[in-house]
Amino acid sequence: MTQTVTDHFTEQLSLRARALLHGLGADLPTEGALTVRTPVSGGVLARVPADGPQDVAAAIARADSAFRAWRTVPAPVRAAVVRRLAALLVTHRDELAELVTLEAGKIGAEAVGEVQEMIDVCEFAVGLSRQLYGLTMPSERPGHRLMETWHPLGVVGVISAFNFPVAVWAWNTAIALVCGDTVVWKPSETTPLTALACHTLLRRAAAEVGADPEVHQLVTGGAEAGEALVDDRRVALVSATGSVRMGAAVAPRVAARFGRCLLELGGNNAAIVTPSADLDLAVRGIVFAAAGTAGQRCTSLRRLIVHHSVADGLVERLRAAYDQLRVGNPLDEGVLVGPLIDGRAFDAMQEALARARAESGEIVCGGERVELVGPGAYYVRPAIVRMPAQTELVREETFAPILYVLTYDTIDEAIGLNNAVPQGLSSAIFTLDQREAERFLAADGSDCGIANVNIGTSGAEIGGAFGGEKHTGGGRESGSDSWKTYMRRATNTINYSTGLPLAQGIHFG
Ligand code: NAD
Repeated sequence: MTQTVTDHFTEQLSLRARALLHGLGADLPTEGALTVRTPVSGGVLARVPADGPQDVAAAIARADSAFRAWRTVPAPVRAAVVRRLAALLVTHRDELAELVTLEAGKIGAEAVGEVQEMIDVCEFAVGLSRQLYGLTMPSERPGHRLMETWHPLGVVGVISAFNFPVAVWAWNTAIALVCGDTVVWKPSETTPLTALACHTLLRRAAAEVGADPEVHQLVTGGAEAGEALVDDRRVALVSATGSVRMGAAVAPRVAARFGRCLLELGGNNAAIVTPSADLDLAVRGIVFAAAGTAGQRCTSLRRLIVHHSVADGLVERLRAAYDQLRVGNPLDEGVLVGPLIDGRAFDAMQEALARARAESGEIVCGGERVELVGPGAYYVRPAIVRMPAQTELVREETFAPILYVLTYDTIDEAIGLNNAVPQGLSSAIFTLDQREAERFLAADGSDCGIANVNIGTSGAEIGGAFGGEKHTGGGRESGSDSWKTYMRRATNTINYSTGLPLAQGIHFG
């Protein structure tokens, strides 16, 4: 495309984004210091305000003030806001998904899937609002009752990454709101438009059910705005999703003020393929996990650990499947791999491939740029690289579609390779041998927060707790009992007798 055609295309995308936002009830500010680019063409989509520390402090003050009343609203009544949000998301699913595509470059099916995930977690949170259970334990003292109660925590600061611009917010916000917390959201500086849309929908949902819209605040900006949220004592919980580098900066600062932190950081996810694996199924699972979202999921498959007896055949089949992948404009029907988020991601991918070559890696396929929509857009063919060993390079997360292939001889060796990286998010084994599957899931098996059998590493359901160990940060979000992070626990002992017996049988005086 010539520059003029690219500019014209970007202009169309920008107008479309504006129209979508308008349809979602949000109007774009005309000015702002934050430039929003679309990875589809690389051009400028919009400019929005970059909030400074004072704006962040003001948003926290509003959320803190709203919390005083919100915490006393019964949880099932609080859930009305989330129920209404789910209904609005159903109505506006396609518009919001298209905005996700424009801003983050996801293909249509995955963008719709991301919005569906928001709806799912809202439904979960509505049910949860009647299940914020505390335990009752038998007291050792006669005439006493011992129990735990769960209470709202306060303001939750949500910092999110570009690659799940809306779902991660919903995981946090739907749960936080039913738990009685209020939220200040700082989305990725790369994706503030989808954030504006979600913020508008949520405040509309609150207003429609008679709740206080101030329970949700949005601040837009980069790391500086994030830091203001991180350092503020009024923010009881900082839920931060992003790179390990970001987590390493955030965690000590929150700890220094004794705040609570929920970290969802980078992954370096592996799948083991054993000799008994159903290879048809494995190929499908591997391709989706490794090439889907152009390798830009925290759970993307980055390492394939294959038994040497099936390695050559599997790699050949993967190469053939990769050949079929259509790379291109994510707005087009039939495209499976959209763009990388920006030039930096492309450079990081090229640097990793150069290092792989220098380390005697064999590039089986991919890695080359596909010039589609002009110089500012970065489309690449997903790469497969056979590596002689799990080098430092393989142990790093490169946020791009590179699949490193390693081979193994024994299942212990394969599990050892799976675990021998700093990150601990997702993992999988493809096997029809129950012993191997159970071994992988056992205490001395995969050390990751997610360990799957016969499915890939990505695409988690919201019903389970989501998160990972080691440098992934240890946080858990979404389903199961993740809600406990968003509440504070009180242990209550009630004496309904006339005596005052002490615990441990102590007699005093
Ligand atoms: P990033 O770390 O560059 O940015 C994430 C967010 O942190 C942004 O909102 C950014 O403004 C903010 N931020 C950066 N430095 C900060 C600081 N010092 N203080 C406060 N906030 C700060 O990540 P990204 O490039 O947007 O996303 C990709 C990364 O996120 C990958 O590593 C990916 O694996 C990870 N990720 C993890 C999960 C998960 O659930 N584990 C989910 C999605 C993405």
